[in-house]
Amino acid sequence: MFKIAVIPGDGIGPEVTSQAVRILKKASHILNEKFEFTELKAGGIAFEASGKPLPEETLKAALASDAVLLGAVGGPKWDSLPYESKPEQALLGLRKSLELYANIRPAILFDALLDASSVKADIVKGIDIIVVRELTGGIYFGRPAGIVEEAGTRRGINTMTYTEPEIERIAHTAFKLAKTRSKKVTSVDKANILHTSMLWREVVNKIHEAQYPDIELDHMYVDNASMQLIRRPKQFDVILTENMFGDILSDEASMLTGSIGMLPSASIGEKHSLYEPIHGSAPDIAGKGLANPIASILSAAMLLEYSFKQKEVARKIFRAVESVLNQGYRTADISSSKENVLSTEEMGAKIENAI
Ligand code: NAD
Repeated sequence: MFKIAVIPGDGIGPEVTSQAVRILKKASHILNEKFEFTELKAGGIAFEASGKPLPEETLKAALASDAVLLGAVGGPKWDSLPYESKPEQALLGLRKSLELYANIRPAILFDALLDASSVKADIVKGIDIIVVRELTGGIYFGRPAGIVEEAGTRRGINTMTYTEPEIERIAHTAFKLAKTRSKKVTSVDKANILHTSMLWREVVNKIHEAQYPDIELDHMYVDNASMQLIRRPKQFDVILTENMFGDILSDEASMLTGSIGMLPSASIGEKHSLYEPIHGSAPDIAGKGLANPIASILSAAMLLEYSFKQKEVARKIFRAVESVLNQGYRTADISSSKENVLSTEEMGAKIENAI
């Protein structure tokens, strides 16, 4: 029996997560394996219930599970809370406590969505990029951090920091992944300016020379990479990068695929793993049945592949999504007309039937 901790969160989180759970139930049926789902609170909803964005029982159950499926957290209602109480702290807390250092974000464009991409069809057709983002280091976690009062004025501080072992383990993740694909890694940094990036480049080169000489490695500054992603996205296969650069570049990559509602992710550590769409809680469309559940459903497929080693059923889900899109069904974010536009739940049901 597989134990799955389900954390729907806020905004569209519960809407898209319920469709991913529907697909996992279908997979459990196909595999003839029992999945045990435990629903947990985190984010704004948890703050409302317990005064904490990441209650102890949620963390405990996540640590005891075989995999975590998360929706999204946050919303304007909680924006003015003190830093420690903000919903987004639940994410950072889960990532740190579960030691999820590697965030894997595939950006694949389905042919049926060629006209939904903001970039011309001949430039994006066939893109299949994976962003490997370091997730527990860098400026989101570095100390000191805060807002301090100095001589009558305030100063905001964040610290970008990386240790050699932190860079080594994420580099291994990217190179190992590249071995299973087209054997090419682009490491993105800002080594012309940042000391963390200078160390990053040095360590990535060292690991490459010593253990992965058969993989093609190149380095790119992040400002150039953000431009190249739009100019010539097909030059990329595996992009290896640090926490904040990966956060930004993967959102940019999502628009190549048509919508942020299409991109899943897996966050992996030595012992635990968590799967979530890359989008946030989308307060502007929450509760209206407008959210695209495909990113969440593909996150469930990644869960089956990475945590439960069920590659075949994961492929089935991917092909089901492809076939529903090929039949012309869309959610509003990827539709250019009003025809065949489905609600979140209808899209989930169509994909389940296609499986
Ligand atoms: P967002 O990703 O929530 O939304 C950006 C835009 O994309 C919005 O217009 C939204 O309607 C659209 N969108 C997002 N997901 C969609 C989907 N599945 N289907 C259709 N359209 C979709 O980013 P934001 O507006 O910057 O942030 C909103 C809240 O989410 C904030 O509180 C932020 O902190 C939080 N957030 C959470 C996560 C997470 O939980 N992992 C990630 C990013 C942002």
